[in-house]
Amino acid sequence: MEKQEPFEIGGEKIRPGSRRVIRIPISMFPDHPAFFLSLYVIHGKLPGKTLFVSSTIHGDELNGIAVVKHVISSNHTKNLKGTLILAPVVNMIGALIKSRYLADRRDLNRSFPGIEKGSQASQLAYTFFHEVVKKCTHGIDIHTGSDNRINLPQVRSDLENEETRELAIAFGAPVVLKAKLREGSLRSAAEKEGIVMIIFEGGESFRFDTFAVRVATRGVFRVMAHLGMIDKSQCPVSKVPTVISSASRWIRSPNAGVFHAQRGLGQKVLKGCVLGDITDYLGISQTKVRANFDGIVIGRTQLPLVFQGDALFNIACVSEPEKAEEIILGLEEDEINNLPFDDPNTF
Ligand SMILES: [Zn+2]
Repeated sequence: MEKQEPFEIGGEKIRPGSRRVIRIPISMFPDHPAFFLSLYVIHGKLPGKTLFVSSTIHGDELNGIAVVKHVISSNHTKNLKGTLILAPVVNMIGALIKSRYLADRRDLNRSFPGIEKGSQASQLAYTFFHEVVKKCTHGIDIHTGSDNRINLPQVRSDLENEETRELAIAFGAPVVLKAKLREGSLRSAAEKEGIVMIIFEGGESFRFDTFAVRVATRGVFRVMAHLGMIDKSQCPVSKVPTVISSASRWIRSPNAGVFHAQRGLGQKVLKGCVLGDITDYLGISQTKVRANFDGIVIGRTQLPLVFQGDALFNIACVSEPEKAEEIILGLEEDEINNLPFDDPNTF
């Protein structure tokens, strides 16, 4: 059998069969590091794939912090094969200043693979990419909705690449959405290095969302089982098929005013049906918001006051909206009320 070597990261060597907190200095003050990139590394006794799970690349998107916490406290990784690198808060500067961006107002997820002596965002991107991402064979990056929008738990990935598609489906989120690569994003930079990566999106900024955190935590374990890193028998099996969509579109506000939604996440919409309405401030005049194609709601604004043209509902095109709704709402019911977790007290 192939022997497992020590794992080198952040200038340290981790022995096979051990786990360690690694802190890599970021953004120097004159005489000491201003911040550290905190990692939790589990290096298995036996060789296998190397997977990173990252969160809070956007400083206001926090769900992944809860996911990482649950993965660390779980028994599933006891006999891990390969190496798991958990990065709960990649953009620690944005998280501290309660911002999606860094203090230099740059978007970390448009700064990959980064520049060693570039801007604050470029430097952080460079460190994370070279110290973590490039050492991995696979990755999961956890996000939430932005701009006061909430997202149904969903995986976004390249569906053309077979390996990526299989990883996305193995995750077991209610929806898998085909997503274009954006220049400078972590996924784009990782793909150029041949690293198989998926994005998870769920919930909203500045909040922990129970449904999204549970789906993502199970998803991380399912991916590890799919990659042979943990025993399949320990893996929380997905009972329902994932709904796959190759396109999504926003339905925008036909008017300015007070928005009242009549459709929630995961619900079906049929062409012509009413999704909500916009009234004036007195509630006298009313404009209905209608769907112009069939699908399911995968994202929605949380703002009650909107301008004409504001994005209201993100609809994923699916071939059988009724069936998709049944699958998704059933999964939500199970996830919130029925399925046990390792430690139910932590949820
Ligand atoms: Zn994000």
